[in-house]
Amino acid sequence: MPSRQQGVRVPEVCRLRLGGFEIVSILDGAIVRSTLRERFAANAEDADVAAVAAAHKLDPGPFQHPFVMTLIDTGRELVLFDTGCGELRAGIGIGDFSAALPHGRLAKLLAAAGYRPEDVDTVVLTHGHPDHVGGLMLGGRPAYPNARYVMGAAELDFWVKGNVRPACKIHREVFMKLAYPFADRARLIGPGDEVTSGVRALDAAGHSPGQLAFHVESEGQRLLLWADVAIHYAVSLANPGWHADVDDDKTQAVAARKRILDMVATERIWAAGAHMPFPSVGWVERAGSAYRWVPISYQLSV
Ligand SMILES: [Zn+2]
Repeated sequence: MPSRQQGVRVPEVCRLRLGGFEIVSILDGAIVRSTLRERFAANAEDADVAAVAAAHKLDPGPFQHPFVMTLIDTGRELVLFDTGCGELRAGIGIGDFSAALPHGRLAKLLAAAGYRPEDVDTVVLTHGHPDHVGGLMLGGRPAYPNARYVMGAAELDFWVKGNVRPACKIHREVFMKLAYPFADRARLIGPGDEVTSGVRALDAAGHSPGQLAFHVESEGQRLLLWADVAIHYAVSLANPGWHADVDDDKTQAVAARKRILDMVATERIWAAGAHMPFPSVGWVERAGSAYRWVPISYQLSV
């Protein structure tokens, strides 16, 4: 008898309620990379990272890296935070991302979430890395044709000036090709600025020089979109002082990670990160001198 196995299938779209807002998580894609220590804890001992992996039943070597984008429907406005990997893996004439990024499925999965690309009113960029700006354009055209754009002023300035470390030169090329064309009509913001009623930017610089996190609040319910402040749910929380290879300024990134993890744990607010396990929404609790990720179950869906 032929096998009836269908292969792995995981949730890709999740719609939750935060007060009067709907929070939609969409899995742009996922890819397996190696290794946990090299990527997220270069300044750690192998044994310490292996212990964290074991405590979470994870392989200490290869790990699955998810890319989760967040859409917020405030009831009046549809706001998309970052655009995923887009067509970078297939190739847009810059670099070779085939080993680094999945094919971006965000635009396609919007339909499953109940929206059309034309429905997106605002695209907000948390920062300028390829997996966040990759889907701004598809087939050479704006992927969200009716959107207005919001970017961090410091982040834009950094990429335009071009004084980037060698490993990020290709990232700059991607930014200039896909994001810079929107810069002249974008609203440029900084920490403390409001994107729309209930959504306010917070300083999260370090992973990139102008990274912004976003505090979202509706009817007293609160969520912090921390973008890439903490990148691996187990390793980055188990020791916020460990260095992620993709953090531009390691010291500043560690400070931002500690500050934001402390905030969400102390104030007991929901968190969502672009690389947290789908649907990327969870809770951060203190564990000794560090933290632990507690994934959401049904709290925002009842
Ligand atoms: Zn990222």
